Amino acid sequence: MMPYASALPNTPNTASAPNALVTCDNLVKIYKVDDIEVVALQGLDLSVATGEMVAIVGASGSGKSTLLNVVGGLDVPSAGRCFVAGNDLTRMSEAQRTTYRCFSVGHIWQQSGRNLLPELTLAENVALPQVMGGVGAGRRAKRTAELLELVGMTQHARKKPHQLSGGEQQRGAIAVALANAPALLLADEPTGELDSVTAGEMFALLRRLNKELKLTTVIVTHDAAIASQADRTLAIRDGRTSTETVRRAAPLAAGAHTGGASAVIGLSGATHREVVLIDRVGRLQLPTEALERIAFGGRADVRILADHVELWPAHAAPAPDGNGNGAGAGSAAELPAPPSAVKETEA
Ligand code: ADP
Ligand code: MG
Repeated sequence: MMPYASALPNTPNTASAPNALVTCDNLVKIYKVDDIEVVALQGLDLSVATGEMVAIVGASGSGKSTLLNVVGGLDVPSAGRCFVAGNDLTRMSEAQRTTYRCFSVGHIWQQSGRNLLPELTLAENVALPQVMGGVGAGRRAKRTAELLELVGMTQHARKKPHQLSGGEQQRGAIAVALANAPALLLADEPTGELDSVTAGEMFALLRRLNKELKLTTVIVTHDAAIASQADRTLAIRDGRTSTETVRRAAPLAAGAHTGGASAVIGLSGATHREVVLIDRVGRLQLPTEALERIAFGGRADVRILADHVELWPAHAAPAPDGNGNGAGAGSAAELPAPPSAVKETEA
């Protein structure tokens, strides 16, 4: 967690982390429907360290589920690289992909009907992935019992999904996802259909498993309360990671922060710090708030000062030798005149 915080400002968040379990590099996913192409992921970078719990947030349609489906081996990326626990997801055969899905990742979906087969009891649901994984009957029964205990569902082992509450079904879904001891748990809005109390309990369980089993977890959520408790929160915008929010080691005193930056997901600026991600070739997404407030019109003058960079609307930038615009006007005067137009992004 802390290595990320200290490496935040301009380190591309991929490939560099030595203990990364998940590394996505410039990931692209294009869906073709009839003759129309939908670019669901457009050059997304992501790195998740072993044992980390990362929350993914973002507007509907921003590519969160697509990302989880690619990382989970359900969808093949159109371009870019994706490695999970030593598996190269861009170069797997169908057979390798099936094995990967069976043993390396667990997946939980928002709709409990997708997590549990309705005609099987909970225990049978937990046993099923083990049958597919070739686990013998004796070990299977033992592991099923252990898993149900782990998620607090022992007393419901013989019930069918329709006899369980939404929260109980999702607890069961966790046991199913962990049946073959995957290295990575992917949860796509697992609390989306639960009331806030049950959602909190579900998240507490995921957090406990993350800590106790050192289970690397990626959770997509709309819920700011949940996002605030993850090690890191990544915001996805238009198929790319745009910002990253990390919990502050020591909360700021009241009034000592300007706030606002983390408002997207409702996290307090006093307890969390949000930074914009800059990829390896220098692309970033300006916060929506900046685009709404400043009339860039698609172009900005870039002023590189001694220790920071300023972006000015191209039509409004003061002359480089102007009289004291901003803290670093002196050093700005020593720089060549900024180019007349600089692209904010190349996407
Ligand atoms: P999110 O989970 O953030 O709501 P998705 O990853 O589901 O977003 O979708 C990202 C974009 O990709 C959306 O425009 C969506 O319509 C499109 N999309 C997702 N899955 C498919 C699919 N199987 N076929 C066609 N388009 C898809
Ligand atoms: Mg989704």
